[in-house]
Amino acid sequence: QSLADVDARVSMCRACPRLVDWRESVAVGKRKAFLGEPYWGRPVPSLGDEQPRVLVVGLAPAAHGGNRTGRMFTGDRSGDWIHAALYRAGYAARPTSVSAGDGQRLSGVRMVAPVHCAPPDNKPTPDERAACGPWLDRELQLADSVESILVLGGIGWQSLHAAALRVGWSVPRPRAKFGHAAQTVFTVSGNGVSDGLGAGRPREVRVVGCYHVSQQNTFTGRLTEQMLDEVISLL
Ligand code: SF4
Repeated sequence: QSLADVDARVSMCRACPRLVDWRESVAVGKRKAFLGEPYWGRPVPSLGDEQPRVLVVGLAPAAHGGNRTGRMFTGDRSGDWIHAALYRAGYAARPTSVSAGDGQRLSGVRMVAPVHCAPPDNKPTPDERAACGPWLDRELQLADSVESILVLGGIGWQSLHAAALRVGWSVPRPRAKFGHAAQTVFTVSGNGVSDGLGAGRPREVRVVGCYHVSQQNTFTGRLTEQMLDEVISLL
């Protein structure tokens, strides 16, 4: 199985009844500004390089962002912030991500989410986070080129730690607390298979925390462009 297979399969998932209802009703109701556009209204797959050096872990798609465009962090203010920062750091072809077909391309980075469907009020329930966990597990198992992970927000931090433990990665104890620029290191055991190029050897994955790029944080100045650039430079 490849990351592309995971993307195709997750976009068909209907495991969470409340989120299926919400993502589809938002797609029918639409926001006035987007009345003329089709909405995706399905789980939003991960976005970016299929041999990533860096993962970016968010929370969940926004109702009128990813749930509209079908692309992670695309079509809303939060997406504008993270794509612009990735562009400044040389990971993105363009400073904006507007819609599929806009020419945006991520190099070395893959954006993933603990929850792939837009939740009401941007708040998935614990059961919904648990239901979506296996998709994140699969990302970690398949992304064997990953060296660093940027985690946007405390829920992403918790979800990533839980997924890492489920797939057998070593996580420091006591667990590092989430905070902006918080850092920890996971160890990934070898899988026993060697291709002669280092696959199968234990490796370390640096994990860096960052306040979420939500409007609540960026409008209030809790997260500035400089703060975002600084944590990305740690990856
Ligand atoms: Fe499936 Fe995840 Fe969406 Fe739930 S949140 S329906 S598990 S893709």
